[in-house]
Amino acid sequence: MSISEELFERACRVIPGGVNSPVRAFRRLERAPFFVKQASGAHLTDEDDKQYIDYVGTWGPAILGHAPECVISAVQAAVPQGLGYGIPTRVEVDMAETVCRWIPSIEKVRMTNSGTEATMSAVRLARGYTGRKYIIKFAGCYHGHVDSLLVAAGSGALTHCEPDSAGVPAEFANLTIVLPYNDHAAVERAFAQHPGEIAGIIVEPFPGNAGFYLPRPGYLEFLREITARNGALLIFDEVMTGFRISPAGVQGKLGITPDLTTLGKIIGGGLPVGAFGGRREIMDCVSPLGAVYQAGTLSGNPVAMAAGLAQLNYLEQHDSYAYLEQLGARLEEGVRRILRDEQLPLTFIRDGSMFCLHFTTQEVYNLDTAMSGNFDMFRRYFLSMLEQGIYVAPSPYETGFLSTAHTEADVDATLAAMQRALRAAK
Ligand SMILES: *Cc1c(COP(=O)(O)O)cnc(C)c1O
Repeated sequence: MSISEELFERACRVIPGGVNSPVRAFRRLERAPFFVKQASGAHLTDEDDKQYIDYVGTWGPAILGHAPECVISAVQAAVPQGLGYGIPTRVEVDMAETVCRWIPSIEKVRMTNSGTEATMSAVRLARGYTGRKYIIKFAGCYHGHVDSLLVAAGSGALTHCEPDSAGVPAEFANLTIVLPYNDHAAVERAFAQHPGEIAGIIVEPFPGNAGFYLPRPGYLEFLREITARNGALLIFDEVMTGFRISPAGVQGKLGITPDLTTLGKIIGGGLPVGAFGGRREIMDCVSPLGAVYQAGTLSGNPVAMAAGLAQLNYLEQHDSYAYLEQLGARLEEGVRRILRDEQLPLTFIRDGSMFCLHFTTQEVYNLDTAMSGNFDMFRRYFLSMLEQGIYVAPSPYETGFLSTAHTEADVDATLAAMQRALRAAK
């Protein structure tokens, strides 16, 4: 038995499923997860000393790779000053100014400890600001494990659908209207059916939690227009895409101005941080200025702020997005060549450093099409990649991430492994 397998046995006795977040358990893959001992740059080493090139990147935060020098030294400098006080600190102001400078739609921002807290607070704020109760979300978009947003967060596309989780009463979910992504008419119908009652739309502008796919041209602009016309707020959940697709996320790339934005992942530099922000008059409804209560004992933690700021500063100073695009283009070109060579017309989608190989030949543009893939083929592909020392997400419904620590040699080695894995998986 490997050391990872032993640890997993111990873990399963004292942690539900042996993990602190479900996708880590590799359950549908019918093997134990590996346990990481150490990580640096684009590489992970497991407890059995096997090395992997990592394309999960902590599920998004590790845009500079693991343990980047700039973040480690910022944390080391912050730690001796104290680990947190629950009293305002300079670094929180630096962080807020940086976020507002990078993302112009954000005039004021509040820090949280996770993406989930950020989306939960943004939805509460949208309801509090508008005095309305309904929220529109899209099937397949994941906004963390917030009660009212755990509806079609990766399965079943229904209107007013059942919650995805036990413990979420249907009455909570009833205030969430779930619509298919990339469908204009569905949104128009929802606004027609609930005039003056929809507080806002929350959307992953580039959805990355049911695989990765893109909005049709004009779709996000349409969401901007229809929310504005109906006095509802547009919330971009950029927890995954913020500081990733461009310095200002998807909104920066497409030039769309949402009312509220949620952030997470990259903003913490690997430590637990989230944030929500937006137009000043909306943010001023948050306590203590306004009536929408929101708080956090550890929010704006100085060590976490130092880590996140160091990561953002590095990204800004090093032409990182040009490098990520170049590396992404190299990966994409290689994958498309392999798919042609192997006569596997699978769907591959990439933007910048985010990518997904869908195990389907259909065009993927919403949850239903993302779910049309062949899981068994994915499973064979994943296990072969892992065996060859390449760690891609252990689910076909996740996004792959490149980091600035990946080299062209890493990508080329990955492509060679991918060709073998796809040939074997056919
Ligand atoms: C990861 C993610 C969240 C939740 O963030 P946590 O930090 O895991 O709570 C919310 N929205 C999106 C788009 C995400 O990708």
